[in-house]
Amino acid sequence: MSSELIDRVPKQIFLAGRWRDAADGSRFAVQDPGNEQQLCEVADAQDADAREAIEAAVAAQEEWGATPPRERGEILRRAWQLMTDRADDIARLMTLEMGKSVEESKAEVTYAAEFFRWFSEEAVRVEGRYGRNPAGTGRMIVTKRPVGPCVLITPWNFPLAMGTRKLGPAIAAGCTMIVKPAQLTPLSMLNLAALLQEAGLPDGVLSVLPTTSASRVVSPALEDPRIRKMSFTGSTEVGRKLVEQCAPNLQRMSMELGGNAPFLVFEDASLDDAVSGAITAKMRNNGESCVAANRFHVHSSIAEEFVRRLTDEMSALKVGHGTEDGVKVGPLISADQRDKVVELVDDALSRGARATTGGKPVDGEGFFYAPTVLTDVPPDARILHEEVFGPVAPVTTFDTEDEALRLADDTEFGLVAYLFTRDLDRAIRVGERVSTGMVGINTGMVSNAAAPFGGVKQSGFGREGGDEGIEEYLDVKYLALGLKE
Ligand code: NAP
Repeated sequence: MSSELIDRVPKQIFLAGRWRDAADGSRFAVQDPGNEQQLCEVADAQDADAREAIEAAVAAQEEWGATPPRERGEILRRAWQLMTDRADDIARLMTLEMGKSVEESKAEVTYAAEFFRWFSEEAVRVEGRYGRNPAGTGRMIVTKRPVGPCVLITPWNFPLAMGTRKLGPAIAAGCTMIVKPAQLTPLSMLNLAALLQEAGLPDGVLSVLPTTSASRVVSPALEDPRIRKMSFTGSTEVGRKLVEQCAPNLQRMSMELGGNAPFLVFEDASLDDAVSGAITAKMRNNGESCVAANRFHVHSSIAEEFVRRLTDEMSALKVGHGTEDGVKVGPLISADQRDKVVELVDDALSRGARATTGGKPVDGEGFFYAPTVLTDVPPDARILHEEVFGPVAPVTTFDTEDEALRLADDTEFGLVAYLFTRDLDRAIRVGERVSTGMVGINTGMVSNAAAPFGGVKQSGFGREGGDEGIEEYLDVKYLALGLKE
């Protein structure tokens, strides 16, 4: 069944409505991280392919930008419907190339499709304003227009949703697009391109270029002043380089970068809610999420009980290949990713931390790491300061609200914070003070297509989703109208 599914997925470059091989015919292998087997090979885009995609995006921009918003909205709506109808197959494909359980992949398909539905509704709500100027000598017309051709770069951890968060608003706004999916997970995006074609996206509006060399494909686009926007989701390190690359042509940028989310549990929290929120915030996507709770700061009066319950829940999670029934924790994406988790946990253990469950990789094929809870984690342990991107929950304690806030903000990142308390005043007080773009209050899940997703500090800038999401793809245009009254 898996091989049939893989057979059906396009494995060529999608170049402005046509499927074709890379300019030099080269291909690269895609692997199943759950068993280290090769799934298939896909075309490896070259710089000549990137240049062709740029020309196509530029050529299609004017006509695409002028299509009626309703038409663009209806393409998105049809794409949402197709994704919803085919959710089982799409989810299974994602599990094969990325590892997470099929249950989690299905949740991602729903979440990803929701961006298409949301932006199908936003496409027809791009508004401007009309007003009298203060001197009374004329009128001001403020309108919005698509920014122009975009280059969109996506990571491997949510191979579909990190794409639809960009494609949805770009299509709604009327921008043409070149997408560079992550090398480790190109299949979900290629499959999505075919689905969008079926939903009626005109030729030329979208190109998808899988490649073994990101810069080979992205640099020519950023060096071209006709490309007007770059949206990136990935690591802060790569994000910084891309900001530099956009400087000469001053392309507009959206930067969805790394996180290091604190999870605060106050003494008045419901422990049931806090533990179930902790499992969601930590274990969604095997812990490989920018919004994953990276460190748990728990009031000292309840820390022992919290650790006991969290340990029970984490040790009960079934680990295995994502396609097996009942599996909750799949493999990590690669050997490198697993080795980084090993390094961070070993560092904490060597400094005196204690594993109450897990603490080591799982033997055998696939890149598995056991769900882990660490206590007595000293403040200088690397795991409290670096993004762990794995199923590991380090727990430390605090005694006062100020101390909790100080610990929460002790990071260069500022994507999301979680807090659990039954005191509404405290929830608002701490929620407003903590230095992050998003806060989960008594919930381990903030992601929602209708909400503005994004961070501050080294987690980047720009927002995806919500009313704000489409603005990233629109320029404001002001017409001054002189009137003789
Ligand atoms: P990454 O290494 O930065 O890669 C992300 C994407 O950028 C991939 O498509 C990658 O291509 C591409 N890339 C790498 N070097 C590039 C270059 N020089 N020029 C242009 N593109 C380049 O990040 P990752 O390891 O895939 O993803 C994990 C990171 O993403 C984490 O830090 C996580 O927190 C962050 N993330 C953030 C959000 C958010 O919304 N804030 C959401 C999800 C993930 P290759 O695949 O070929 O390397």
